[in-house]
Amino acid sequence: MRKLPTYTMTSTILVTGGTGFIGSHATVALQQAGYSVVILDNLCNSNPSVIEGIERITGTRPAFVQGDVRNAQTLDTVFTRHAIHAVMHFAGLKAVGESTQIPLAYYDNNIYGSIQLLSAMQRANVRTFIFSSSATVYGNPTTLPIPESHPRSATNPYGHSKLVVEDILESLYASEPGWRIARLRYFNPVGAHPSGLIGETPQGIPNNLMPYVAQVAAGKREKLQIFGNDYNTPDGTGVRDYIHVTDLAEGHVAALRYCEKADQDMLTVNLGTGEGYSVLDMVAAFKAASGRPIPYEITKRRPGDVASCWADTTLAKQKLGWAATKGIKEMCEDAWHWETRRTMPG
Ligand code: NAD
Ligand code: UDP
Repeated sequence: MRKLPTYTMTSTILVTGGTGFIGSHATVALQQAGYSVVILDNLCNSNPSVIEGIERITGTRPAFVQGDVRNAQTLDTVFTRHAIHAVMHFAGLKAVGESTQIPLAYYDNNIYGSIQLLSAMQRANVRTFIFSSSATVYGNPTTLPIPESHPRSATNPYGHSKLVVEDILESLYASEPGWRIARLRYFNPVGAHPSGLIGETPQGIPNNLMPYVAQVAAGKREKLQIFGNDYNTPDGTGVRDYIHVTDLAEGHVAALRYCEKADQDMLTVNLGTGEGYSVLDMVAAFKAASGRPIPYEITKRRPGDVASCWADTTLAKQKLGWAATKGIKEMCEDAWHWETRRTMPG
């Protein structure tokens, strides 16, 4: 009997913000898991050279569309040209401080952008959506570790934009059958791909601790300012749940697989390690990983900062069968590898 050819159906995922920090690592994880990826990014906070890095790691070049998630026509073209099966939505603005200065830009990008994207999905009849939410929706935590059921609040336009999109997704899910939605609440994503080919590229002075520390270790900045050592924490400095970005990326693949299995579902889950480390812990770990001194001074608290924040990871384990695997040593080593590769390429 003649053997019929076998075809492998590859699912195609639209990754908005796919040239950014987390989206690029998610693209790598998706491609390595056998998915095809179409990236949509307007490059407002990333560089197209990221595509080369992804190609060098995975051997596959993702399709790339330079465009804005707020543009309905661009979105319709993407959905018409590609048989998109699910959307991972990373595109947005993310700097808390900046969001208090230009709130309209934040609401426009993060809320209007999400509405435009979800509307285009409705038109294209694509109903699987993975959303980048944040632990910022927990406001000032009243319980540690923080479960998904913790009350939500926002103290700045960035956090508010995440809250509103979470609510929009809830309403959309309730309004029509068939949606499979994951709201993933990230804790503190850090590190870089171990290859040193992709990582985080902050513009100007980094707002976040780890990129700042990396630049101090590299000699690009004189010293770190530690924002307060009078918190109610073991050493007085702020405690956070740092998660390696490749673990986070794997969490997205697990969430996608979870959604694919469901007829319809609305999943809200923390993506963190469940462990908290202080600023001084991270400085010591980075010093060890880089072999460089990290000079620092203690300054006053940064307005809006909470003392401690770490995830309850029970639900992620239960629902997704996923748990972070990498510790702060690997986070610092990979961040340092990325920093040195960029500074001294070749
Ligand atoms: P990033 O800035 O590195 O990546 C975002 C990407 O989206 C960039 O490449 C940017 O050019 C693109 N973009 C922005 N607005 C766009 C638009 N209107 N149309 C098309 N592209 C657009 O940020 P990231 O750290 O990778 O964060 C990704 C997502 O995860 C964001 O939604 C962010 O709010 C969320 N998040 C990040 C963190 C974190 O600490 N990095 C924590 C929690 C949640
Ligand atoms: N932090 C600091 N100096 C910096 C940046 C951050 O001491 O230059 C501290 C900050 O106060 C917090 C921790 O590092 O306790 C993590 O801050 P980051 O901005 O990276 O994350 P987030 O505040 O969003 O959790």
